[in-house]
This record gives sequence, C-alpha cells and structure tokens, in this order.
Amino acid sequence: MTQTLFSIDPLTGEQVGSVAVSNRDSISKKVAKAREAQIDWASQSLQQRVQALQHAYEKLQPLQSNLAQLISREMGKDTRRANYEAGGAIQGGIWLAEDAGKALRGQCNGGSEIQYRPLGVVAVISPWNYPLAMANNLLVPALVAGNSVILKPSEESPLVADLLVKTLNETLPEGILQIAHGDRHTGEALVQSDINMIAFTGSRTTGQQIMTNAAPALKRLVMELGGNDPMIVLASADIQKAAQFAVASSFENAGQMCTSTERIYVDAGIADQFEKAVTSIARQYHTGGWQDLQADIGPLVNQRQHQKVVDHIQDALKKGATLLLGEKAPKPPFIPPTVISGIQPGMQLEDEETFGPVVAIDRFNNVEDAIQRANDSVYGLGAVVFGGADAVQVSNRLQAGMIGINQGAGGTPWVGAKQSGFGYHGGIDGHRQFAQLTVINL
Ligand code: NAD
Repeated sequence: MTQTLFSIDPLTGEQVGSVAVSNRDSISKKVAKAREAQIDWASQSLQQRVQALQHAYEKLQPLQSNLAQLISREMGKDTRRANYEAGGAIQGGIWLAEDAGKALRGQCNGGSEIQYRPLGVVAVISPWNYPLAMANNLLVPALVAGNSVILKPSEESPLVADLLVKTLNETLPEGILQIAHGDRHTGEALVQSDINMIAFTGSRTTGQQIMTNAAPALKRLVMELGGNDPMIVLASADIQKAAQFAVASSFENAGQMCTSTERIYVDAGIADQFEKAVTSIARQYHTGGWQDLQADIGPLVNQRQHQKVVDHIQDALKKGATLLLGEKAPKPPFIPPTVISGIQPGMQLEDEETFGPVVAIDRFNNVEDAIQRANDSVYGLGAVVFGGADAVQVSNRLQAGMIGINQGAGGTPWVGAKQSGFGYHGGIDGHRQFAQLTVINL
C-alpha cells in the first residue's frame, strides 16, 4: 500500500498538501530508470548539458512566487526571505550550470589528458531550512557532470521540491532527474540502493548514519553538516557593529541556519556595553507568520525543533545563565527574540547546535580562553571575529572551514571543517566532486 506524506504548515498546523512516499521497491525502480537515462545524458556534450539545464531553469522564472509561497507555507520562512531564496535558486541554477561546465572541462597535463567523467547515479539528500537552495547547489553540478540524480527532499518541505523537479522535467530528458519522497526510511533505502554517490546536506547525526550505510560499497560522499558557530568580540571591536551582527546572525531564518551564530565570547572590558546593545537591538525584532510584513522571526519548523530550543534555554537558566530578553517557556510555534548571558561549557546552548533565535553570550578575561572555547567543539563550520587589527591573529587560530572578520562567514566554496563535513558546495573543487577524475596517458 502506498504511504502518504503530509506537508504541515508550522504556523497553523494545517495540511498544505501531500505526496506519495517512495518505498524500497519504488526506489529500486527509480534507480534502474536513472541508470538507463544516464547513458544518453552522459553521451551529450558538456555544453549541451549546460544549455539543457539553463533552459530548464529559465522555465522556472514565472513560478518564482509559487515556489516562494510553498517555502513559506511548508517551513515558515517570511515572504521576503522566501522570495529571495526562490529567485536566488532560479538565477543560481542558471549560473551554477555555467560555472560547473567550466570546471568540468577536460585538460592536458604534460603527456596526459585529464577527464572529468560522470560517476553514474547521484542521490541528493537535502534539508528543510533552505529547501530550494540546498537542493540546487548539489543537483545542478551533479547533472552537468553527466550523472543522473534522485533528489530526496526533507519530509518537512516536499511540495516545493516537487514543483522544482516537475518544472525542470518539462524540458530535461526523461529519467535524469527524479524525486523520492519520505522521511529517514526513504533516505536510508536510497543510500543503500545501487547508486554511486550521495551528496548530503543536513545534520551531523544523519551524516554519520549515511556514512555507515555508504561504507560497504565505498560510495562517494559529499557531506555538508551542522555547526555550532562561535563569535569572538575583542576589546578593539566596534561594539555597535558587532552587536548588530550578533543579533542578525543569531536570528536569521529564526536561527535555523547552519552558519547562524550560536555562541558569543566577548571581552569582559566591553561586555556590559555589548550586552546592552545586543538586547536593545534584539528587542526590535518581531515574531510573526510569513504573511506578516513586520515579522523578522517566523515559527520554528515543527514542535520537535521548538521543544529542543526551549530545552536549551531552560537548561542554561537552570545551570546559572541569565535571561536578558525572552521567555523561559515560550509556546509553539514561536520563540521570541531571546538573549542569554553567562553561558558555560556543559550547557546545551554552548555545547550543541541549538538552531533557534537565541543570542547566547559569555565574557572572557583572556582571549586564549575565548579561542579555546570557540575551538572546543566537534563542529567547525563557520566562525567569526570582530575586532581591530588583532582580529586577524585570532582568526588564524580558529578551527572552521569558513571564517569572517568583522562580517559573516561563508562564500565559495562553502566548506565545513572537523565534523561539520567534508566536500564543498560550489567552486571548481566543489563541482569536480561529482566526476570521476580520469588520467589518460597519450
Ligand atoms: P536532517 O539530518 O534531520 O535531515 C536532512 C535530510 O536527511 C532529510 O531529507 C532527511 O529525511 C534525511 N535523512 C534523515 N535520516 C536519514 C538517513 N538515515 N539516511 C538518509 N537520509 C536521511 O537535517 P534537517 O533537520 O533537515 O536540517 C538541519 C540540519 O542541516 C542542521 O544540522 C543544519 O546545520 C544542517 N545544514 C547544514 C548546511 C551546510 O551547508 N553545512 C546547510 C543547511 C543545513
């Protein structure tokens, strides 16, 4: 019997729509179809594949607002941000196809030729927090490289992924891009099926499960995982700028961003001023639904995620931290703008990825302690330092794939250190991950 997956609006709890779940049997069929379709797709020239994808993404343009509305309704993002993501995904698809095409051209290397050959069938498994952007970043280069792709979107945002794939398939050759819906069971069945590569964006725990399931056949992996990004504010920092960044980065996408600031260490000499500035900026943020044009912080994606953030807040308060702004027990679906000072190791707010709109602060007397605490994490996605000239030295000692000095972390390629993953989104190195590098002696 076919199972149904319902997409739920986090604001109202209403059903937005439903899709059929892919079971093991239907996944085997999709993989067989993908394998057959891939042969013709790979026989096209690189330029033909780039053009086919660009044409397919151009057809998405009239649907930008439909895509944006689905993002809002499925995961709660406000209209402005959802539109930005949808528009960015469409333009980004066109641009990414071009960029991947450049990276995947063969080259001569002395007496040898280097070719970038397709790997076969690639599973792209994506999260809900940027449901279009995260899927796009991996499926476009995978297809340009001559692979076929099966996308497994998050169970929280199936409808927007469905519209993306259906529209692209109006012009792409049949079978090279398919979708498999469902939760972790579908993801697991896909990883264990006869595919060649898994390009994954999601949590560290799921990344571990995927690695385990990919190990028997040594399937190729790209892992873009979670983070617990630190921010260090030095005594030489512009306090107002640092406070603005701290709030904006902690609250972006209701804190549900992989590189959102999760914990802040501020020099004790400026800590009072910094906390005051942070609290007064944070107070100006409003929670609200996606249609509310005044809202900066939307609902959390689901009750489980909401409860996790409440647990982290309560754990910190129980262990001695101070609530400067916010509520001790906010009710779903919102977490109001929250500022907490006095976080310590051993608190979930400091040790784990919270993924909610919380500015979590502690102060330091010695910058060595701040660097040590910033690095004392299994994660290493992004890290940020605010300060004068001394910020550069501090940044050189931070263990993260992406580091920002007086600004946010992130760029091209998008890369995590330590258990925040391996492999990249974007850039020459990122695109080439989707190909088997082959050396031919001429
Ligand atoms: P998640 O790991 O719960 O789910 C991600 C995807 O994996 C979903 O499609 C899910 O159904 C699937 N999945 C779950 N278990 C699986 C299994 N055993 N095998 C195969 N697939 C499985 O993550 P999420 O809650 O959707 O997303 C939030 C996480 O993603 C956060 O940790 C965030 O930091 C991270 N993230 C990282 C980046 C990055 O670029 N590094 C970007 C966005 C989000």
